[in-house]
Amino acid sequence: MARMVCNKFDGLIPDTMDEMTSLPGVGRKTANVMLAVAFGGQAMPVDTHVFRVSHRIGLVPKRCTTPLSVEKELVKHFDKNLLSDAHHWLILHGRYVCTARSPKCANCCLNDICLRDFD
Ligand code: SF4
Repeated sequence: MARMVCNKFDGLIPDTMDEMTSLPGVGRKTANVMLAVAFGGQAMPVDTHVFRVSHRIGLVPKRCTTPLSVEKELVKHFDKNLLSDAHHWLILHGRYVCTARSPKCANCCLNDICLRDFD
């Protein structure tokens, strides 16, 4: 991968989705993280926390069974200027409150509006 960055991109990490995902080992999630964090853009990387929390809260419909379909649905509904922040909100909520095995619903700020879809 590093060799390809040197040979094909003059030693600089490219800043487009297509170019980044052309690098070995770089998938859509990693490329979106680079766009959102390293390049200061707006993107919605979908990791396990974003995927789980989006479904539990009811932000995405059940038919969204892949990270890409969840990403597309979230991108449709969040203000595009808040996408990268929203990505972090969902990750942190999933990491510390809406955890995979023991969600802290009683103390959750979304308690009143969450669908609590645990399927
Ligand atoms: S109420 Fe429970 S299921 Fe819903 S977001 Fe909060 S912790 Fe997760």
